[in-house]
Amino acid sequence: WQRMREGMSRTRDALVSTIDSLVRRHGASAEMLEALEESLIEADIGPRLACEITGRLRQAGRLPGEAQELRRLLATILVEELSRHTAALELDDRGGEPPRAVLLVGVNGSGKTTTAGKLAWQLRREGKRVILVGADTFRAAAQDQLALWAQRARAELVRGAPGQDPASVAFDGVKAAQARKADAVIIDTAGRLHNKSQLMAELSKVRSVTAKALGRAPDEVLLVLDATTGQNGLQQARVFLEAVSVTGLVMTKLDGTARGGIAFAIVRELDLPLKLVGIGEDPDDLRPFDPAAFVEAILD
Ligand code: GDP
Repeated sequence: WQRMREGMSRTRDALVSTIDSLVRRHGASAEMLEALEESLIEADIGPRLACEITGRLRQAGRLPGEAQELRRLLATILVEELSRHTAALELDDRGGEPPRAVLLVGVNGSGKTTTAGKLAWQLRREGKRVILVGADTFRAAAQDQLALWAQRARAELVRGAPGQDPASVAFDGVKAAQARKADAVIIDTAGRLHNKSQLMAELSKVRSVTAKALGRAPDEVLLVLDATTGQNGLQQARVFLEAVSVTGLVMTKLDGTARGGIAFAIVRELDLPLKLVGIGEDPDDLRPFDPAAFVEAILD
């Protein structure tokens, strides 16, 4: 978590120094709360949540006259808020026959392939048999990158030929996983946004064909979001939600964002559980989301 803490240092420095100076300037007053609301919005927390937070501080009765105490109260509210939107990625103990199928969707560059690789690596470390599937048949580089991850994780790879129908690659991947009695099949998909309707039709087909091969819905459809893209990323995310039913979120690059507050806006606005976070490029840098550690990284 140290890496995330370092990555968030700009968010933290800005928030902490703003809160300190607001309390110094306005004391425990209505003006202070108003100014606080503005700085929360500036931290990308989103106007609605910022307003709600200051509303809750107002209701808390006595406002702390000391910055440190105010930060502590604010932290409690933020941890509570994030905890409501957090869930573990549980691949064991689910109904249905193995393999567990995980589909990763999101804009190009958001970190899908890296997340697929890290997840494969972690499952392999638990002794699981894992198949990685490259269903982005448009970008050869994405397939090569996935092949490197497969090598690194010692996972098996099913990759499509250039231009092959991505849904048929997903189908082959699931069938291979069943035949080889794999524990998990992780499917990496395309994310080019310049042809939105085509991409959305493609993803929806990948999902339904995966479900057909499995005989049930994919166990997880994870939407991968880049934390450094701010409100823009949120807009793009909505497009994916229209195409496939997403079961959870992965937020990547939390080690390198100056706008850590976007995590709040995203989980709140999309109303989906945040399951995993990416905090670096190493295989171990994919973690279950920990609201308390996150809030500590931006406020303490
Ligand atoms: P894709 O196009 O969605 O498959 O995205 P990639 O997996 O290729 O990731 C795009 C870039 O982001 C790569 O250079 C990754 O190494 C990098 N990346 C992905 N996740 C993280 C993360 O959590 N932290 C950092 N610092 N970089 C990441």
